[in-house]
Amino acid sequence: MTVPAGESWVTEGNVRATAIRALAKLNLGLRIVGRRDDGYHLLESVFVPLDLADEVVLRVRPAGKSHVHFLLHGGPPGLEADERNLAARAAQAFLAETDLVVDVRIELTKRIPVGAGMGGGSSDAGAILRVLADGHPGAVSSHRLAELAVSLGADVPYFLDPRPAWVRGIGEAIEPIDGFPELPVIVATPQPPLETAAVFRAWGGRQRVERAADSPALTPEEPGRSMLPPFAPRSGIDGRESAIWWRRLLANDLEAVAAELHPGVARLRREIERSGARAAGMSGSGPTVFGVFGDAKEARAAAAGIRWEPTDHVHVGWTKGSP
Ligand code: ATP
Repeated sequence: MTVPAGESWVTEGNVRATAIRALAKLNLGLRIVGRRDDGYHLLESVFVPLDLADEVVLRVRPAGKSHVHFLLHGGPPGLEADERNLAARAAQAFLAETDLVVDVRIELTKRIPVGAGMGGGSSDAGAILRVLADGHPGAVSSHRLAELAVSLGADVPYFLDPRPAWVRGIGEAIEPIDGFPELPVIVATPQPPLETAAVFRAWGGRQRVERAADSPALTPEEPGRSMLPPFAPRSGIDGRESAIWWRRLLANDLEAVAAELHPGVARLRREIERSGARAAGMSGSGPTVFGVFGDAKEARAAAAGIRWEPTDHVHVGWTKGSP
């Protein structure tokens, strides 16, 4: 059966199938504004989807009892290649909520670097929850789907409907931003990966983290300690003022500790800034670093002029704007 890309379901015999692209994200800036009693950090960030994606093919057919099969193509040696993969756990979590008795086959082709700060695993999980819900209307309420998503990981709710958004809380408070522009970018990931928990531990060791209760109310209208600027940009980086605004937005509280743990962070920032990027930042807990350019031609020329390490993963493309 040929499965067309684009999230529509096709049926052949008793098998229903769909092919989806699970997009990576970039964090355009990240602030840590508090900590919950359970140890999760409270964040603020602008999340944008990136035109770099894992590919997922799902096949669902009736069966005597529910089962999720998982097949992995690509990805680094340590990546879970069986039912423990987050993609498979998302399908299991969905089925456990329903009375569907089906066999689900997941084929994942990994293209997003792992442990890179681009939310690859979370994106796979969010995309699978989204298409399973679309393919089985009424099986799980949207409220419950959001709860399932956050139980799989703090970034998973974002990937139920990835678009430019303010993201707060531990990642579950998502507010889409209207009119956000698409941005031409170079996105570079050095080896080895960085473990998110290790970066937060290192950050916690350096800071006295305010308890959530002490944090000011944070809304787009009440900036407080918030990073949220008083307006959303309508266009990419053009004039000098605009570049200053973007550089301020892109500050990431985790970058200093990530750079201590990983020499690739400072190296790539230096290279990307030298290449003429209008602004540069680190995504999530790193080690991925990106540069924002005036246009796609500028980004391509800059990427061609950088002397990359052979193990760097380099993507020259676009962040997605608001739909
Ligand atoms: P974030 O930006 O959300 O912090 P990340 O990009 O740093 O995430 P991921 O690539 O999502 O991190 O992977 C984190 C860990 O999750 C890896 O160590 C990996 O073993 C595990 N994992 C399980 N399933 C997947 C998957 N489908 N894709 C990537 N990693 C997965």
